[in-house]
Amino acid sequence: MSHWKLRECDVGTAYQYHCNGCGNNFPYNVGGGFRFDMVACSECGEQKYLKQLEDDVPMPDPFEDFEAYQEAINERSKSPCPCGGTFAYHSPIRCRKCRSTDVTRMKKLYMYD
Ligand SMILES: [Zn+2]
Ligand SMILES: [Zn+2]
Repeated sequence: MSHWKLRECDVGTAYQYHCNGCGNNFPYNVGGGFRFDMVACSECGEQKYLKQLEDDVPMPDPFEDFEAYQEAINERSKSPCPCGGTFAYHSPIRCRKCRSTDVTRMKKLYMYD
């Protein structure tokens, strides 16, 4: 399966997740949009938007070189999270309460792109 298949069906959707560790229910945004990408903290699961436009440095074209594109996203999201972790493009989905990655996707909440 290519990266593209995965990205296409996941673009800009918020899902309700259930933590199997502590029972917490929380929304989580999967995928990005045309003007931004979502990155998540590797430690606490906090998410933030990463603007691709309105920036001085041009992004590599994801359709031409997906690896370079991901690399650029990771590079751009290096600003650390208050928890001490770092934001990355493919961080695991975490419960924000107990930080467990043992979570179940429940239902689609909304499309935000
Ligand atoms: Zn939890
Ligand atoms: Zn964090």
